[in-house]
Amino acid sequence: MKRVFALLLAAGPIGWVLTASAQAPETVTSAEIYLRLNKLNVLGTVLYMAAHPDDENSRLIAYMAKDRLYRTAYLSMTRGDGGQNLIGDEQGVELGLIRTQEMLAARRVDGAEQFFSRAFDFGFSKSTDEALATWGKEKVLSDAVWVIRKFQPDVIITRFPPDSRAGHGHHSASAVIAREAFTAAADPSRFPEQFKYGVKPWQVKRVLWNSFNFGAGANTTSEDQMKIDVGGFNAILGKSYGELAAISRTNHKSQGAALTPARGQSMEYFTLVAGDPAHSDPMEGVETSWRRVEGGEKIEGMVKQLIGDFSLAHPERSVPGLAEVYKAVSQLPDGYWKTQKLKEVKELIADCSGLWLEAVTRSAYAVQGDSLGVTVTINNRLNAPLSVADVSLSDVRTGFSVPLQQQLEGDKNYSFSRNIYISLDKPLTQPYWLAQEMSPGSFNVSDQRLIGNPQGDAAYTVAFRIVAGGQEMVFTRPVQYKYTDPVKGELYQPLTVLPPVTAQFDPSLVLFTDGEEKGFRVEAADRTGHSGLPKFSLTPTPDVSVGPPSGLSWLARPSSSKTETATADLVFDHSGRRDTAVQLITIDYPHIPRIDYFRLARGKFVLANVKTAGHRIGYIEGAGDKVPDALQQMGYEVVMLKERECTPAYLKQFDAIIAGVRAYDVHDWLAERHEALMDYVKDGGNLIVQYNRGNLGKMSTAIGPYPFAVSNLRVTDEHAKVNFLIPDHPVLNYPNKITDSDFDGWIQERGIYFAGQTDPAYQHVLSMNDPGESEQKGSLVIAPFGKGVFVYTGLVFFRELPAGVPGAYRLMANIIALNHKRGF
Ligand SMILES: [Zn+2]
Repeated sequence: MKRVFALLLAAGPIGWVLTASAQAPETVTSAEIYLRLNKLNVLGTVLYMAAHPDDENSRLIAYMAKDRLYRTAYLSMTRGDGGQNLIGDEQGVELGLIRTQEMLAARRVDGAEQFFSRAFDFGFSKSTDEALATWGKEKVLSDAVWVIRKFQPDVIITRFPPDSRAGHGHHSASAVIAREAFTAAADPSRFPEQFKYGVKPWQVKRVLWNSFNFGAGANTTSEDQMKIDVGGFNAILGKSYGELAAISRTNHKSQGAALTPARGQSMEYFTLVAGDPAHSDPMEGVETSWRRVEGGEKIEGMVKQLIGDFSLAHPERSVPGLAEVYKAVSQLPDGYWKTQKLKEVKELIADCSGLWLEAVTRSAYAVQGDSLGVTVTINNRLNAPLSVADVSLSDVRTGFSVPLQQQLEGDKNYSFSRNIYISLDKPLTQPYWLAQEMSPGSFNVSDQRLIGNPQGDAAYTVAFRIVAGGQEMVFTRPVQYKYTDPVKGELYQPLTVLPPVTAQFDPSLVLFTDGEEKGFRVEAADRTGHSGLPKFSLTPTPDVSVGPPSGLSWLARPSSSKTETATADLVFDHSGRRDTAVQLITIDYPHIPRIDYFRLARGKFVLANVKTAGHRIGYIEGAGDKVPDALQQMGYEVVMLKERECTPAYLKQFDAIIAGVRAYDVHDWLAERHEALMDYVKDGGNLIVQYNRGNLGKMSTAIGPYPFAVSNLRVTDEHAKVNFLIPDHPVLNYPNKITDSDFDGWIQERGIYFAGQTDPAYQHVLSMNDPGESEQKGSLVIAPFGKGVFVYTGLVFFRELPAGVPGAYRLMANIIALNHKRGF
């Protein structure tokens, strides 16, 4: 999605408001209950479709969910794995994990549900065809059809048109998929394998494109289009839909997508893409009352009565009436709305009773082969006429079922604890889309039932069988880790199942620059806490010879003179079990629940034949990248620089100073230290600036000694041929001779945010282009200044170095060596 740049500057890596308990059991006010009671009489569904987290029109979604009270969802083709991370150094699937949780946090605000296809966000794409080919068109079409058949939307609304006006190949591809899924979902001959999982063909009434006005040159709205005003104020919630949208979008912190809340009239525009035309409203001609269900009319009256009698101070008085509604809905013929409304009525009974149901542990982890205490609590806080039949834990092999059979007195805690055994074959808590090896452009998920879901089920759940007005209903709640942080207060986090041993390589990437011997260690953790550390061995790798370990340390040397990468996995023996070790990776940010996932404990060895000149490097950390670790592997001493250290006297000691990605975007103080940095260059230093995005398109001297403009230009084809425009330039020759093969094996893209217009003082060393596009020359620009050198590069070293791409190491060494060999 295109955004106004100024918004990005406002989002720094720190300083957001803590939302302490995104995972805490939800409790609602009577006002929210009143809204939900009204929603019981609305039987309509809207599915919004686009490509990425933050593409969604949060205001329209909030309006559909909270004003029109439709069941509303957003299907994002990807999890946003390929974007840039504004809050940390996670990239790729890790960024996708963060954005998945940010999306769920956003949906908790705007009231919609969330779906994803298996498409991987592989980075910026310039064409629809490339996006669809990389994702696998049939695969993601199948996913969209599956979500449509399950969710049964009356109307699909796309954010984008299927052409280049969408601004990104993923965007236009999402529109193509929406259009084709509209036809395929209704066609019994398309994806018939889905029918064995309980879905049927589904005919969506229409597909609309929610056209947009993103300012000059990007206004696709016009007054002759169908339009609706979504700017209303919801008195029950005390917010306008623009305000709800703004709060929803603050959750997209990893991309700084916050908006200024809109108040007042706000029009949304629509163009028909497929299906029945509509003239005044997206849901025109859709029956959204109980009349759409056979025998459902009488329920509408019952709900109206409940709404009329609703007591703000005593919502529990609605419980008997809700139990009657529950009974009446149960007696309807089976179908989509019966299932959906039973769920809604059931949760309303809990809401109106102030019913507190929780199952918690005092540990964040359940370890295979170990035991774990679970404490269950029930409290009927408003003394509604409820009783509990029994409480049971889901896991059939190690679970429990506790018969209680009693009336629940008002505001009394019914609590008990049980120890459960975590069986050795209990699956690890791995995000389901990462459980299998992925394809380059998509995830692989073999269980059809999981596809589309935002995340997997909780490791353990507890089922509470509650009886209200003679109606028995089961409430399922996840077993969660609960604790009280002295600063943040009471917190609920997911419970993660771990193996008995986890391990990781330190460092995770060993770089051999000249055939020498290098050491590495394994850091291991015995998660059971009782059996001592296991014995580890390494799977052999032919290109690296590894000596016998001394404790958990190994010495390795390359046994091949080729330039390449090799890997070794770790095998452990523990309590008679021999297994390939996995590494636990935890991602923890205050605005989302803790994320855990596993990957193989795998060491990477890069045989790169890298020569270096210079030794000491000052690094100005930007928005977060792993370049400093890579520089240390190259043999440099790396000193992280803070504002007060950026003085000419202090900087003099460094052979080069490197600014991390987007350093100028996240540190205002760099503007004030510009003169000091330029003095450093003038005196013979070498300042290397990786990509920034500030002030796009404006020529300035905010970064370099001579004016240049950071542009939106990029080359996304990671195989794009790289041309050497100045073949005898030192950066291509000293100390390493750079050749075409140094651009082999790059991942995701060549570069982003290239230098656009440049002062004549800049040399353009490389050129490259995406298929069918003109040559870009701004990926690496170099200007001699005084006795030193200034370099700006949009080449994605921050991706290629941690990925172990040998040529990226060799080129980086040459950039660092530039002031050691002037002559250009
Ligand atoms: Zn997007």
